[in-house]
Amino acid sequence: MRFDIDEIRGLFPVLHQEVHGRPLIYFDNAATTQKPKAVIDSLLNYYEHDNSNIHRGAHALADRATRYYEETREAIRDFINAKESAEVIFTKGTTESINLVAKTFGNRFIGKDDEILISTMEHHSNIVPWQMLCEEKGAHLKVIPITEEGEIIWDEFEKLLSPKTKLVSIVHASNALGTINPVEKIIEAAHAVGAKVLLDGAQSTSHLDIDVQNLDCDFFAFSAHKLYGPTGLGVLYGKRELLEAIPPFLGGGEMIKEVTFEKTTYNEIPFKFEAGTPNIADVIAFKEALVFINSLGKAHIKKHEDELLAHANELTKHIKGFIPVGTASEKVSVLSFNINGMHPFDVGQMLDARGIAVRTGHHCTQPLMNRFGIEGTVRASFAVYNTKSEIENLAEGIARIARIKNK
Ligand code: PMP
Repeated sequence: MRFDIDEIRGLFPVLHQEVHGRPLIYFDNAATTQKPKAVIDSLLNYYEHDNSNIHRGAHALADRATRYYEETREAIRDFINAKESAEVIFTKGTTESINLVAKTFGNRFIGKDDEILISTMEHHSNIVPWQMLCEEKGAHLKVIPITEEGEIIWDEFEKLLSPKTKLVSIVHASNALGTINPVEKIIEAAHAVGAKVLLDGAQSTSHLDIDVQNLDCDFFAFSAHKLYGPTGLGVLYGKRELLEAIPPFLGGGEMIKEVTFEKTTYNEIPFKFEAGTPNIADVIAFKEALVFINSLGKAHIKKHEDELLAHANELTKHIKGFIPVGTASEKVSVLSFNINGMHPFDVGQMLDARGIAVRTGHHCTQPLMNRFGIEGTVRASFAVYNTKSEIENLAEGIARIARIKNK
């Protein structure tokens, strides 16, 4: 598909509505993206024609559902360039993917006085599971500090790395600031001390090309709903040898080879990690989201989003009272800011009155907000279907709101 913004917008039914009497401007894409009609149609089609449980049926519908389900796994393998589809595990989302690693890899490979490294800009879902693990195991959580601009401080990272480091778990692109972390370098340095690396790809997959073999990360976690797919579905990629070396996460149907009351043997990967009936419909529909992204190409998507962010930066930088939060040199399309003298929530409500949907608050990154000494920010995050004129509308809204307290 050629990159025609009107054509792209035409694929997203939800965008064509008014909010408070104004055309909707949806800038809450880092929370969740909208879904193209092909994804919505696929969900409907599945329930109307194919609904069946997978992997165990002897009938046509079960066969079909299984085939479609596994086709999505293969599409994801291709999307992140994993070596084999067995390395792609379906979960409920990034949160569950990270918890899976904490409970399995963590249980087997992290012990007393081992260290886990994260950064100051982590989402709570890449903090809390490690705190829980450290408490259980007597391990230690170490935090890489960041600069005023919102970039990790490399020297400090190197100082924290040691043979005690068993895992570096870091966000690829920050949801609150937009910072893209230098993950290639981080992975290389972590591997040099024998540590494994988990990348939280919740915010990077929709904007950046992901090649897990090239990156050489050990685990990669992301959510379908942040890249134009359905909610309640996520992915954990892991290298085969690691997935084989760690114990299962949940016990139940599908994840077993053989069960007796005395002993259970486990299924091959990825099924070892997919206990119970999975989220079949959403998995099948997710493939359409990947088809949509691939049809445009990540490079074109990134270029468009970079232009939107540059336009937003340009239009807001001279607004009196406008305080950007997160000014890293490498960013995905996130504009996080405050307005001098105003609470972020109030700003969000005023923008909402203009039909502009943004997120306000700590964005599940409270320690990051503490680092900047703020309670929260207003976050406008852009996606492939956003336009320059929407950015102009946002900038005008911000300017009017800022004028209230910054005459
Ligand atoms: N990490 C980051 C960077 C995120 O932005 C999010 C979602 N806001 C998550 C993890 C958690 O994703 P989910 O809620 O889909 O599990």
